[in-house]
Order: sequence, then structure tokens, then C-alpha cells
Amino acid sequence: MNQSKILKIGILGGGQLGRMLLQAAANYVVETYVLENDEQCPAAHLCHHFIKGDIKDFETVYNFGKNLDALTIEIEAVNVEALEKLESEGVKIYPKPSAIKIIKNKITQKEFYKSNQVPSPEFIITQNKNELTIHSGFLPAVHKLAQGGYDGKGVQVLKSDTEIDKGFDAPSVLEKMVDIQKEIAVIVAMNDKKETAIYPATEMIFDPNLNLLDYQISPAGLPADVLQKANSIALQLVKGLDSPGLFAIEMFVDKNGKVLVNETAPRVHNSGHHTIEANYCSQYDMLWRIILNYPLGNTAVILPSSIVNIVGAEGYSGVAKYEGLDEVLSMKNVFVHLYGKTQTKPGRKMGHVTIISKDRNELIDQVKEIKNSLKVIA
Ligand code: ADP
Repeated sequence: MNQSKILKIGILGGGQLGRMLLQAAANYVVETYVLENDEQCPAAHLCHHFIKGDIKDFETVYNFGKNLDALTIEIEAVNVEALEKLESEGVKIYPKPSAIKIIKNKITQKEFYKSNQVPSPEFIITQNKNELTIHSGFLPAVHKLAQGGYDGKGVQVLKSDTEIDKGFDAPSVLEKMVDIQKEIAVIVAMNDKKETAIYPATEMIFDPNLNLLDYQISPAGLPADVLQKANSIALQLVKGLDSPGLFAIEMFVDKNGKVLVNETAPRVHNSGHHTIEANYCSQYDMLWRIILNYPLGNTAVILPSSIVNIVGAEGYSGVAKYEGLDEVLSMKNVFVHLYGKTQTKPGRKMGHVTIISKDRNELIDQVKEIKNSLKVIA
């Protein structure tokens, strides 16, 4: 594209995803705007213009976007009605508000999968806790709040009817328990011309105690036919959403090798951090290519990689101190990303480390080494 004027692009949300998106923006001619309530947020100091305000408020989002060329999001809990109005007035939104609307609510998200024949675990919609008793025959299942859940909060495993009391007393999805072999994520990019690019699947290893991601390894170690199935499901899903943008699709591979969609994020995603160093074109660079109308990038893997999250240690709250950073930085094949959050608290995502290596065993050994040496205290 021959860019004749400097495009003004806004990001709703100022967390670490916004920060890394802005790091990639620095390679292009673009004027960046961030809307976020917290002036000390990770993205605040990397944009050209920081606007303090609530991304959930109609007037605030509308006023933020009305003089911009395009908008994107780094979190889906945004005011979609304001985005719809902006879209109708000619502001480009990546992804389309219609896609955010479907995904934002787990009920509409699951209904979308069903009506688009996207394989996903069987489900029932519940409006309140009482309704769960009627569906005790559906257990074991996973109860998921329709709105407001994140990082495992808003997700409750219900093994049998004795656990029904742990369920949510608000609109939710009750999803059949999957006998999980592996959890993977596939990132798909689609531009305005509906051209697509797909990143090799990444594998997520969860900590069963914290219900949080333990570490991640890419590309995922699965048979080619399973990976192919995951790719075609991810593409089918994004084509169904019919929106340009970048989408991360989290999937389960069950014990029989069946692939089922867990959930979709209509934005850059934590499962794609490694693409900064491990793939030719990072997910962040890819989203700029889409927004600025440049050719899609190369998603191929340069080297296998793993990601370790740096989270606040148990028992420490306050101004963050990083213990063991020298040790990690002296390793030859690691990349440290600290998100610029001054305050730590237990479990807070403070940064991540990407490790690259030809040798998968070395990746896993180094994950363990980093977990043992790096600690965020106060
Ligand atoms: P969040 O949006 O908070 O990350 P998810 O819907 O991804 O929540 O669920 C969190 C975790 O719970 C998943 O990564 C998976 O380990 C487990 N889980 C979710 N749904 C199911 C299911 N249907 N069957 C088995 N485990 C599930």
C-alpha cells in the first residue's frame, strides 16, 4: 500500500498484549492511541497518545475512536455498541464488532460453534444455580460464566450432583467434561481481502493446582492428521466469524485424537508470545500488517520454543523485585519480557520468558531451570 498519510490507530486496553503490539508498531509509520483506566498500565508509555478512560463505557469509547482511522482491542470486555456506531461511521474495527459480540459472551460463542458446525464440547445453557439440579444427569461437566471470567476464574468443574452448589448463579454454559489428551492453540490471521495465514499449533501445559498455564511449547507435538484437523477447524471458525483480524483458537485434543474448540480470543493472545522470537512474523507484527493493509507475514517456525510465564510469587504483594534475573539472562537462548508492572501480587502475570532451541528436551529442561531460579517478590 502507498500510505499517503499517517494512520491513527487506537487500541482498547493497555495491558501487556497492548504493550507488545506497540513494540511491533514502532517498526511502521503509524500514530498510536491507547484507551485504558490505569495510567501506569504496561502500554501507557509506549504509545504516542494515552487516553485515560473506561473501555466499557459507550461515550468514552465512541469519543476515543471517532477521529481515528482504525481500532483494535487487546481484551474483549469492551463497549461493543460504541464500536458498532464507529464502524457505521467508517472507522475500521479489527476484529469487526459483530465478531467481538459473539465471542464476548460464552453462550453466544457456543451457539455460534453449533450453528457453524465447529466441533466443540456438548453444552447446556443455565440461567441460575437452580437449573443445574435439573441437569445433574449431564455431569461431570464444566460450568462457565457467560461473561466476566478470565484465567480460570469463572470456570468451575462439577464432577457430580454433590458439587452443584459450586456452580454459578448467573447465565452460564454447562459443558460436557472432555477427557483431555492435550490443550493446544492455533492463531489465524485474516485480512480485509479474506486472505488467511495460520500459525503452527502451540501446546499448553497447565498447572493442575493453580488452574493456570504452567508452560507452553511450540510447535505442538501431535500427529500430522490431528494438527491438520485443528488447522481446518480454526480456519472454518474464522471464516464463519467473517471478520478480518487476528484470532487465537484454544482447542482440546481428547484421548481419541478428536479436536474440539474450547474458546476463541478475537485478538493477539498469550498463546502467541513466542512468535516474537520463534516465528518469522510475530502475531503482533501480523496484526499491524492487517490493520495497515500490508501483505500477510510468514508464520513459519524459525526454531521450536517454549514460554514460561513470570508470575507474582505466593506471599508477596507490593513493589516488584525480580530475583534470579541475572541467572536467566545469562542463558544463551532465552528472551526475557517484563511487562512494566510496578506492583506484584500472588499469581499476577508480570512477564514471560521465551526459550528457543532445536532440541525439545532442552526446552523442557530450561523451563524447569527458569521456574526454579526466577521469582517475583516484593
Ligand atoms: P478461561 O477462559 O478462564 O481460560 P477456559 O474455558 O479456557 O477458561 O477453561 C480453563 C481450563 O479449564 C481449560 O484450559 C481446561 O483445562 C479446563 N476446561 C475447560 N473446559 C473444559 C471441558 N469441557 N472439559 C475439560 N476441561 C475443561
